[in-house]
Amino acid sequence: MISRLLIANRGEIALRIIRACRELDIESVVVYSTADAGSPYLELADEAICIGPGPSAQSYLSIPTIISAAEIANVDAVHPGYGFLSENAHFAEVCRANNIEFIGPDEETIRRVGDKAEAKLAARAAGIPVVEGSDGPVTTDDEALAVAHRVGYPVLIKAVSGGGGRGMRVAHNDISLQAGLQTARTEAEAAFGDSSVYVEKYLEDPRHVEIQILGDKQGNVIHLGERDCSVQRRHQKVIEESPSPGIPNDIRIKMGRAAVKLAKQVGYHGAGTVEFLYEKKKFYFIEVNARIQVEHPVSELVTGIDLVKEQIRLAGGAPLGRKQQQIVFRGHAIECRINAEDPDRHFAPSPGLITHLIAPGGPGVRVDSHVATGSRVPPHYDSMIGKLLVHADTRAEAITRMRRALDEYRIEGIKTNLGLHRRILRNAYFERGEYTTRFLDELLST
Ligand code: ADP
Repeated sequence: MISRLLIANRGEIALRIIRACRELDIESVVVYSTADAGSPYLELADEAICIGPGPSAQSYLSIPTIISAAEIANVDAVHPGYGFLSENAHFAEVCRANNIEFIGPDEETIRRVGDKAEAKLAARAAGIPVVEGSDGPVTTDDEALAVAHRVGYPVLIKAVSGGGGRGMRVAHNDISLQAGLQTARTEAEAAFGDSSVYVEKYLEDPRHVEIQILGDKQGNVIHLGERDCSVQRRHQKVIEESPSPGIPNDIRIKMGRAAVKLAKQVGYHGAGTVEFLYEKKKFYFIEVNARIQVEHPVSELVTGIDLVKEQIRLAGGAPLGRKQQQIVFRGHAIECRINAEDPDRHFAPSPGLITHLIAPGGPGVRVDSHVATGSRVPPHYDSMIGKLLVHADTRAEAITRMRRALDEYRIEGIKTNLGLHRRILRNAYFERGEYTTRFLDELLST
């Protein structure tokens, strides 16, 4: 049983976890850097511990500091949220070595699925279609060239330890492949401390569709349907929705089954996401995210299941207690990621003081955000300052509701991507559900 929990994260996800703890009657202890000192969400936790200065390496990414905080706070579990240490197998191992439950899968599973090349091999072994490419990492240029010649250009060079849409390079010929390998390796080493890369066919017009899974420590796994995350800017998600407006029902069923099969094969427990690309009536596994994801509330809205509460319950050893047939999907949900970004400067981060903020509300609207009037958005972290979600009976009603909610939102003092969301929600292709991962980059180039 978990009765006191440390939140090793910040911002909206820290607040999300505090809320889950309150409802579960679990005490929450949140860590914070000096850049986040004074944030209103810190007061909602039972205790808040300062763990160092703004730069993440000295605070939210410092394993010894976070473990010391967990020991001082005398907690029995750590929730890592997303980003930071959430998919760090070593951190999970250190937590458990100190008798602190890590809220996430076992370290071996994190390691296995965190290596994207190995995860692909595991998927293939489970009979799940994967994007054609190298069998594991490529070590030489010749190996990469041979793969490219076999699958045909364009190809994508991807970092084995990549994430957040970073460390990827498209190559259209031998010359750009060789140059791309160099830069991708250097970028991957700098961003993830691991220069290994693999090569796969670059699908030119896919949808990104992912399956939310939940597994218990007894080996039961179910899925909570899909999220369509094809509205992306430079391979980073901007809008997510469920159900996907662009996949047929037989594919939806097959993807769900494939995700559950893979999760069982790697001994997955907790909440996780199995990501696929879908193109020309076929789907391909791309990766597993061994954590709660930013877009998890989309699935919460259509299933009525609180994923963060489930994560905590499952980490404590509780059984799933639900069968796949008992999951009921209701209505349509859309999420817009609200980022502190300057649309006039290629969406560069726009940190600073929020001088005025009015969040939308009313029927079917959910705002997951930690900022308010007077909040300062620090320059050190991701630029996401919140998520606006709507739920309605149909997709058309959800779109109308999202337009209304976006029009209510006021954020002054910093630049945001609210205008971009308003534009997307009024786009005819988006309205018809006819979009792929190319949609937004094309919209922005016109
Ligand atoms: P990350 O972990 O960095 O987010 P992913 O593997 O999840 O990387 O890919 C992120 C996005 O990159 C996908 O949603 C998709 O838009 C694009 N992408 C990844 N692999 C391919 C591919 N083989 N072909 C085309 N696009 C791809």
